[in-house]
Amino acid sequence: MNIKRNVLLNPGPSTTTDTVKMAQIVPDICPREKEFAGLMKGLRTDITKIVHGDLNKYTTVLFCGSGTINIDVCLNSLLPEGKKVLVVNNGAYSTRAVQICEYYGLPHIDLKFPVNEQPDLEAVEETLKNNPDIYLVHTTHNETGTGLLNPIKEIGALAHQYGAIFSVDTTSSFAMIPIDIDEYNIDFCMASAQKGLMAMTGLSFIVGNISEIEKSRDYPKRSYYCNLFRQYDYFEKTGEMNFTPPVQTVYATIQALKEYYAEGEEAKWARHTRVFNALHAGLDKLGFKDFIPREIQSGLVVAALYPDDPNWDFFKVHDYCYERGFTIYPGKVEKKGMFRLCALGAIDVPDIENFFKVFEEALKVNNIQIPVIYNK
Ligand SMILES: *Cc1c(COP(=O)(O)O)cnc(C)c1O
Repeated sequence: MNIKRNVLLNPGPSTTTDTVKMAQIVPDICPREKEFAGLMKGLRTDITKIVHGDLNKYTTVLFCGSGTINIDVCLNSLLPEGKKVLVVNNGAYSTRAVQICEYYGLPHIDLKFPVNEQPDLEAVEETLKNNPDIYLVHTTHNETGTGLLNPIKEIGALAHQYGAIFSVDTTSSFAMIPIDIDEYNIDFCMASAQKGLMAMTGLSFIVGNISEIEKSRDYPKRSYYCNLFRQYDYFEKTGEMNFTPPVQTVYATIQALKEYYAEGEEAKWARHTRVFNALHAGLDKLGFKDFIPREIQSGLVVAALYPDDPNWDFFKVHDYCYERGFTIYPGKVEKKGMFRLCALGAIDVPDIENFFKVFEEALKVNNIQIPVIYNK
């Protein structure tokens, strides 16, 4: 095969291996055939095992859609009548969860914290104490917009202490940061095939507590297509998705899972860590500053502040790198200039070294001073 290899440093989709790309090229098949249902059964089990879920307690429910579908499904499906959602919000993805609550008219509390700080756990506890009608606590693990890591184990423990269930957006940490679903006090976590698994877009999944899903059978039904119990129940009865699955993405994900287990949880996380360290080393050398203090970074995303050089133009730098096979990405914090470099995907340290050669050239051809300058 001769497909150009691009190094994606954006926060997903990520760079994939050629074997994963090729796994999509299969004979045409109707996904209602038993053969296909069999493939999805193994896929669901393999995904549950990534977070060390006990198969008697947790299951994986697949959806056709991008990662946001998971947040939508969890929030709209898991709230009993008369109860409230608490969103522990310190970034763009938890804000998205708040917007979903607004769209469905779900009673919720948007507990906001600064985007560059971990949430204050005492404030979380206080809110739970004062609102005994909170049934669902939701937050984001790696806030991909900034690369901040949230203390989910602690937030989950508080949720449970006050009788609530805990759902976490792990879209940008799943299959990268080792997670033990039980130990982390998680009832529901989620991701998409194109992020940590290094497969293709179109397949998303929720790993969740079976007894909580069973309970939600009688909760208010707020969506037809995006209802968790409905999709779970259909899987249990038929082994299939309720509606057409993303067939080729399923094949690619099965191959990606083989490669995940062949690389191994620890070795994969070690690789992401060395890529992350190489990103920091390269940025440090050029004088860039981080937006988030290093101690609370996820180890997967670096948000670097735009320098105050009058010649700095993110899009010119982006285009120079893009033309040479490297994709960089703007930030996601309002009114603050920054760009992001991410350690996702089938990449390693030599890719980052090659990237920084190109990136430094991009600064030079645009007459941007090195080391880069900041006013304060
Ligand atoms: C990528 C991502 C999502 C999903 O975004 P989509 O564009 O819908 O795929 C959700 N949460 C987090 C934390 C993410 O990084």
